[in-house]
Amino acid sequence: MNPVPVVGRFAPSPTGDLHFGSLVSAVGSYLEAKSAGGLWLLRIEDIDPPREVSGSAGRIINDLHRLGLSPDGPVLYQSSRVAAYQDAIDKLLEKGLAYPCACSRKDLPESGRYAGTCRNGIPPGKVPRSIRFHVDAGVCTFNDRLQGVVSDSPAGSTGDFVIRRADGLFAYQLAVVVDDHFQGVTQVVRGADLLDSTTRQICLQKSLGYVTPGYMHLPIVISVDGKKLSKRALTDPVNRQEPATAVEHALQFLGQNPPSGLSLNDLWKWALENWNSDQVTCVRESLPNSDLSA
Ligand SMILES: [Zn+2]
Repeated sequence: MNPVPVVGRFAPSPTGDLHFGSLVSAVGSYLEAKSAGGLWLLRIEDIDPPREVSGSAGRIINDLHRLGLSPDGPVLYQSSRVAAYQDAIDKLLEKGLAYPCACSRKDLPESGRYAGTCRNGIPPGKVPRSIRFHVDAGVCTFNDRLQGVVSDSPAGSTGDFVIRRADGLFAYQLAVVVDDHFQGVTQVVRGADLLDSTTRQICLQKSLGYVTPGYMHLPIVISVDGKKLSKRALTDPVNRQEPATAVEHALQFLGQNPPSGLSLNDLWKWALENWNSDQVTCVRESLPNSDLSA
């Protein structure tokens, strides 16, 4: 039997230009897949139009190419996948693993944990708004390549969570699981800000009969004032930097020690030959160069 080919992916939301934090995820996911002889795929997570910044998907794709990060195969746009998300929801509804919920935000407790109000049917006089996934009471455990053993009980932390929103849009948790399965992704390398949602995604994978990929959650890039860099923050976009410099900084942040002054081509050649994920530190609180975090 042939071993399952390694497939990694980078899945940005088009909510702004590529910044240093997402470059780190792109470089980490690329090297973890390509150094194992695998494929690296690109997915644009454009399922939340109100949060989208016009033109940013195209700019992210151009920036990645300019930085030497070319995906294997065509880019997958989540906006083209609505029928697949609805199919998954229909399957969960049929199995009794999802249900309509009539609660609005003001009906939820401050903790945000959903108490299961609509599990056994919509209360009289109310109308369905969202669809929730029925989590079981168990604890979900997985072994993160970098963070070690992670355990959480979604029943205790979030309760039954939304998979289709009241505005009709599909929730991130559902879309990411359906598409990782669709694209044959075997390893998910991304920022540790998504560590908390991983057990919810594993619950969904199991309920849909999908194989759970391996996970590796990279340290989050934090600016000098302690705020996580986000695409909406006023950070210097990667496209204003010289490509080799930007990639070199990302490698340094990931604990790699490339010789300085290499051309972009030579830098990638070095990185593919020398990538060592054991050198990525679990917690890294500031950028190697504070000028990137202004
Ligand atoms: Zn409800």
